Amino acid sequence: MPRIAYVNGRYVVHADAAVHIEDRGYQFADGVYEVCEVARGFIVDMPRHLARLNRSLTELSIGWPVTSGVLPLIVREVVNRNHVFDGLVYVQVTRGVASRDFVFPSADTKSSLVITARKVDPMVATRRAETGIKVITVPENRWDRVDIKTTGLLPNVLAKQKAKEAGAQEAWFVDPHGNVTEGGSSNAWIVTRDGVLVTRSAEHGILRGITRTTLFEVAAKLGLKIEERGFSVAEAKAAREAFLSSATTIAMPIVAIDGDPVANGHPGSITLSLRQAFFDVAEKSPA
Ligand code: PMP
Repeated sequence: MPRIAYVNGRYVVHADAAVHIEDRGYQFADGVYEVCEVARGFIVDMPRHLARLNRSLTELSIGWPVTSGVLPLIVREVVNRNHVFDGLVYVQVTRGVASRDFVFPSADTKSSLVITARKVDPMVATRRAETGIKVITVPENRWDRVDIKTTGLLPNVLAKQKAKEAGAQEAWFVDPHGNVTEGGSSNAWIVTRDGVLVTRSAEHGILRGITRTTLFEVAAKLGLKIEERGFSVAEAKAAREAFLSSATTIAMPIVAIDGDPVANGHPGSITLSLRQAFFDVAEKSPA
């Protein structure tokens, strides 16, 4: 049974799916995207992801490709047509197709919409959480509107490639003050010796992760305190725990930073309790 993609109003065989070469997403990374996890037949935190999509579109003055009420229906349809029970669904909106020019095309240019979904074995992340993962650090060299979830991801690509080459699974960007901003595709957290969760304020130099937001609610439920502030690499290395968050990793324990172990080099118990409680709190839309 072939994989199916949604491309600008049509459900097409994934292998044949294509966008126009003058799509501004292709030409300029002039587009935005969202990824939702699909877990046990539920699309996780979809309203929050679509609200952030709306914000990203608004910030870039890109119009909705379909009405906001119709989009969740198409997302669901793509998940179901691909029989994804556990996996992810990807939504991309670009400014549309126009003759190549840096300035925005005329206002009647229709934005482009592509949606794909794929299966992911949930046991891979579960097993990974049993051992924890490693990160490396890299200088923060991305543009300063990282609060918008754009497809201009080259610095992230380079950082994550560097992480892979160093035997790590994520790279943490570090700002000129030596403070961690976030990961190449995740938000960064530590747990202090006193058991307080620390993550950078979403007002400054990071993407406001949906998982991060939901984890605030999870933490409240578990009676854990959160401080929104920057933290240095040294503080992270000396912390009780470190972890990252994103839609497809939930709270993922970090056991090494730049080759140095975090705490005893094992996944932290607070991280694992957040991971455990996440689905009790996250909003689950039927797929
Ligand atoms: N920061 C960056 C740079 C990201 O790319 C992502 C995930 N795509 C996140 C943080 C985490 O966001 P979310 O929890 O919404 O997946």
